[in-house]
Amino acid sequence: MRGLDATARVDVSDERIVAFDGDDDGYLDWLAVYPHGYVVNARRKRSPDYVVLHRATCGSISNRMVEPGAYTARGYVKYCGETLADVAIVPMHCGRPRASFTKRCGLCKP
Ligand SMILES: [Zn+2]
Repeated sequence: MRGLDATARVDVSDERIVAFDGDDDGYLDWLAVYPHGYVVNARRKRSPDYVVLHRATCGSISNRMVEPGAYTARGYVKYCGETLADVAIVPMHCGRPRASFTKRCGLCKP
């Protein structure tokens, strides 16, 4: 698998978070390595209006059958962390209070 560090191109100050922007392969590899982790789906153009929390195992954010680039190379990017505490900074990164996700996925119930 490719090095995770090389994919962390988005400016996230907390190194416990890995941001996948334009790297679906790296993202899907991360999900395979950290099935206990959490994923935040957010707009590529950083915005406070869409910051959604999922578990890494959620089917709505991990399906290799979709078209290449569907997860991280179009309108959205993914921020991944091993614990809820790790991903709690992502809303702040997007201009919201800490841990204030706009939504917690109703499918995987993180
Ligand atoms: Zn989900």
